[in-house]
Formats: sequence, structure tokens, C-alpha cells
Amino acid sequence: MLVSLSEVMNRRGEPLYVEAETGFDVFRMNGVDYPVKNKTQVRLTIKSPSPKRVLIQAEAEYVLSAPCDRCLKEVELSFPLRFQQEVDFSKQEEQPGSLEEISCISGYDLDVDRLIFEELLVAFPAKVLCKEDCRGICNICGADLNAGECGCSRAEAAGEEHLDPRMAAVRDIFKNFTGSS
Ligand SMILES: [Zn+2]
Ligand SMILES: [Zn+2]
Repeated sequence: MLVSLSEVMNRRGEPLYVEAETGFDVFRMNGVDYPVKNKTQVRLTIKSPSPKRVLIQAEAEYVLSAPCDRCLKEVELSFPLRFQQEVDFSKQEEQPGSLEEISCISGYDLDVDRLIFEELLVAFPAKVLCKEDCRGICNICGADLNAGECGCSRAEAAGEEHLDPRMAAVRDIFKNFTGSS
């Protein structure tokens, strides 16, 4: 949805309240689609504190569905968004193209989908886990290890990254010891 910012610039200082809708029901990041499970309207407060400057405050809540990085179970991620963005159109007039980095602005319109999309990008966690100590799936038989041991012997298949760091330290000491002898 596009919201025109030219109107608010004519009402000098007096805020404009807008409830906007976003049109996407999938959030796509790095080629992966995360379905939008729930979303509120985007409550926008837009003011122009000085000529050509626009301050946009946005509030919304999005719930995305994402697979756990370890066991692939669907996890609901909640994003309470509350942020503001300032746009100075005088810069654009002095230096055409200077607003290009603010991709949610096109001409004098605010692209609300883009605004929210970018905020979700920033807020998205580096790691998605169904729980802090998720044990993941067995890399041999694919069983969910949170439900219990499957009986596979994964010690060799797991490789070094799954090794307990304390065990790795012991192993390194051992390696040094044998190396020097
Ligand atoms: Zn998990
Ligand atoms: Zn297994």
C-alpha cells in the first residue's frame, strides 16, 4: 500500500494518522519463504516538523512461521515492530537520487510493504530455534532427537562441529601431547 507524503507536508507539524495494510503474506529472505501467520494493521503517525522533512512512526505486529534451524519444526516468530524513519526531501532536491537508499520512498509516496519488509529483515533472528536446547535431528536416520535417542551411533558421522567444546579442548591437548612425542 502506498501512502502519499505530500499531504502531510502541507499540514506543517500537524500529524497525520494512517492505518495501512501490507499486501504480502509471505516474507521472502535469501530465497526462503516465511509465511505470515498473523499481522496487525500498520499504525502510522506521519508528521512534517519542518518543511520538506517527514517523520514516520510505525507500529505493527507480525508473526512469521519459520523452521527450526536444528530440527526443522515450524516455529512461530513474533515481531512487535515499533520504529521511526525520517525522510528529508530537501536533500533529494539538492542531490537527485540521494533518497534512493531509502527504498520505501518512491517519489513522494511511502511504500508501506517495503517499510515493514525492511524492518522485518533487521529484526529477523540470526538463528531460529524451537527451544534453546533443541537437540536437532539424527543425521543418520532423521529421527527427532528431542523425542529421544534413536540408537544410531553418530559419534563419527557427527564430525567436529557437534563435539562438546570441553571435549574438543581435551582432544586438542591430547593431539599436542602426541605430536610432541
Ligand atoms: Zn528444534
Ligand atoms: Zn538415528
